[in-house]
Amino acid sequence: MNALNPGDCHVFEAGGRRHVYLAPSAAVMAMDEVSSAVLDALADRPRSREDVVAELSARFSVSELNESFDDLLKIRALRPVSEAPKRVPKILPLTPLPLSTMVLNVTNQCNLACAYCYEYGEDKIVQTDNGRQPKWMSEETARASVDFMLAESGRTAHLTFFGGETLMNFKVLQTTVNYAKSRAAEVGKLIDFSLTTNATLLKPETIEFLAENDFGVTISIDGPADLQDKFRVFHNGAGSYALVEPKIKDLIARHRSRPIGARVTLTRETLQVRRIYDHLTNNVGFHEVGFAPVTAAPGRPHAFGDDGFESVLAQFRDLAGDFRDAAIAGRHHGFGNVRETLGEIHRGASKAWPCGAGFGLLGVSTGGDVGLCHRFAGSDDHKFGTVRDGIDRDVQRAFLDSHHVANKTDCEACWARPLCAGGCYHEAHTRYGTTERPNLHYCDWIRGWTDTCLTIYAEIAEKNPAFLRRFEGESDEAPQAS
Ligand code: SF4
Ligand code: SF4
Repeated sequence: MNALNPGDCHVFEAGGRRHVYLAPSAAVMAMDEVSSAVLDALADRPRSREDVVAELSARFSVSELNESFDDLLKIRALRPVSEAPKRVPKILPLTPLPLSTMVLNVTNQCNLACAYCYEYGEDKIVQTDNGRQPKWMSEETARASVDFMLAESGRTAHLTFFGGETLMNFKVLQTTVNYAKSRAAEVGKLIDFSLTTNATLLKPETIEFLAENDFGVTISIDGPADLQDKFRVFHNGAGSYALVEPKIKDLIARHRSRPIGARVTLTRETLQVRRIYDHLTNNVGFHEVGFAPVTAAPGRPHAFGDDGFESVLAQFRDLAGDFRDAAIAGRHHGFGNVRETLGEIHRGASKAWPCGAGFGLLGVSTGGDVGLCHRFAGSDDHKFGTVRDGIDRDVQRAFLDSHHVANKTDCEACWARPLCAGGCYHEAHTRYGTTERPNLHYCDWIRGWTDTCLTIYAEIAEKNPAFLRRFEGESDEAPQAS
């Protein structure tokens, strides 16, 4: 008799019902009592269908049980022990994919000296002091970048300005926006602008410019003064909170056409998710707050300790519960990490690569080198070409081939792979010295967080499905530059 195992899926409970997330199709399904009992019976050890049917026949009819087995086998929620797990198919794009987002590093200089910044210190990838990458992007390089982007993009192009501190090169940012608008109109494409800034250089005229040009703005900020001033300091060690808070409030008051988001870096010393969220939304006025654990090699003073991810997960779960309650009641909640993952679940995202880096998203260095993403722009690692000469398609194809999730043995067997696919290349590079390895140090965190979001998704789908429609037109390709 052929024994069966649970297959390529994750069973979870939401709103008093069992559900299953199917990795091969990235679908979420509510289970009936029969299927749920069958999967429970197989949870601990492989067993034959006959054995399970005999055990459960006091609760369900034999035909119900057999029908359930057939269905579960069909959707690959069950797998015969004798069959090898199915390999993830490796399908590479036949023609180059359109560029959705170009991140322009307009400077690699910064007026802050945040102790955890990946642009500085021992984890730095891009060498900016060897003269090969200028400190400031020139107007000529920025224009060439816009031409490159419009040549590579589909009908809509997202242009994101980044640094260093982006606003230190505000002059080039301004002229680039004007050039991009007129060039986009000439070639009949739509263009959209965003930037990430530390807010220290916001002034009335800068705010006016951002509002007039409908910029999507993300502010890097770590919370109330005592947390912000631990790491986000000027070169003389002075904290930045007192300077940025009134500037951010001015920006939020003037720029109403697009919601302003906060991006928080969590370190072992600032793990206070709810306090940070409450402060940034209630006291400062941000519409949305997204959190990211610091990227750091193990042993760095700000890197998470052994229980760091566990603590973040518990705090995220708590705040995610508020998001769920608000969504069910039809109210806004600004916990950005949940919104992003719910959107991916709703659209059935099934990633062959962890993010759009290398195809939908590319980073451009101050000198015009095209890199994997903004964190690699200017590095010889994963340079894909230049804005003047275009993309080397062989290099790009080789990258997509060698970084496909099908190459990551652990990920192939993981139910969370449709949403994770191995995780951020920059994190992997910092941790393991190569972008090809999956980030196995945070699998428990990823799976725990994915389980939380699946649960919340199923609860919202049950109680207020209309809420989820907002995710339908969005794209999964390009993560926010941070
Ligand atoms: S990195 Fe870990 S959690 Fe992510 S897909 Fe791979 S095995 Fe799963
Ligand atoms: S997730 Fe990582 S690799 Fe992808 S764009 Fe962001 S920083 Fe770059």
